[in-house]
Amino acid sequence: MNLDPCIISVAITGSGTTREQHPDLPCTPEQIATSAIEAWNAGASIAHIHVREANGTPVHNMDYYGEIVERVSGVTDMVLNLTTGGAIGMSEAQRIETLGFEPELASLDAGSMNFGEGVFINSPDFLRELARGFLQYNVRPELEIFDEGMIGNCLRLADEGLIEPPFWWQFVLGVRGGAPATPKTLLHLVECLPVGSQWSAIGLGRGQLQMNTMAILLGGHVRTGMEDNVFYRRGELATSNAQLVERCAHLIRELGREVATPADARMTLGLKGALGNPAAGSFSS
Ligand code: ZN
Repeated sequence: MNLDPCIISVAITGSGTTREQHPDLPCTPEQIATSAIEAWNAGASIAHIHVREANGTPVHNMDYYGEIVERVSGVTDMVLNLTTGGAIGMSEAQRIETLGFEPELASLDAGSMNFGEGVFINSPDFLRELARGFLQYNVRPELEIFDEGMIGNCLRLADEGLIEPPFWWQFVLGVRGGAPATPKTLLHLVECLPVGSQWSAIGLGRGQLQMNTMAILLGGHVRTGMEDNVFYRRGELATSNAQLVERCAHLIRELGREVATPADARMTLGLKGALGNPAAGSFSS
């Protein structure tokens, strides 16, 4: 079993969580960057980034991404993972555009599904186009898996030479329309992965703590943050993304593993920052 240092990803704000759900949800580029930096101080090595207007509306604004990249990379060695999932309703062209920042990581949502009350479309042709974008900009995909069929979608992309190992999988469990956040589901999905894979688990809402703990025990990695859950415990809002990260770091240490540094994460995931890039943790453009 892989008991290497455990990578904590923090998903700062996402596109689905609302200010009504959490009054301090980070929304402006400055708030998002500040929250990422606090989370890094608490033990997160990867920040997953979406952008919003100050009023909380999810948007596609390259200037906002640019500002966040600059702010976070200016004071931390954090790995940045920009979304290509965007928000429901964004065009495919917009979603691919974030790869132009040449981040070390970006999300690749590996199939279509009902997503709450919406429909999240990732057609086979779009997945190929997206994967070509990752190759073009030398970005490692984080393969977002919402149900078992999406693993097969990724393995087909691999057969076609459009994604390359080492594979980094993120199980996103508990979305209404996707696989549930249960221990059995997670165990089964992990068993479906090809040898040599690295993986992480997310549980939405109340599933967050349970899936994070399971992942630590099983030798995987964890993602926490307000994109996925705003509560610290039932009925009690988390005070910040950093508080959620701190709990993961505590659990990781209590369960006998170490918390991965950004350098550990780069090594484990084969990111370009680990390959002698002097700008490790930042971007080449
Ligand atoms: Zn996201």
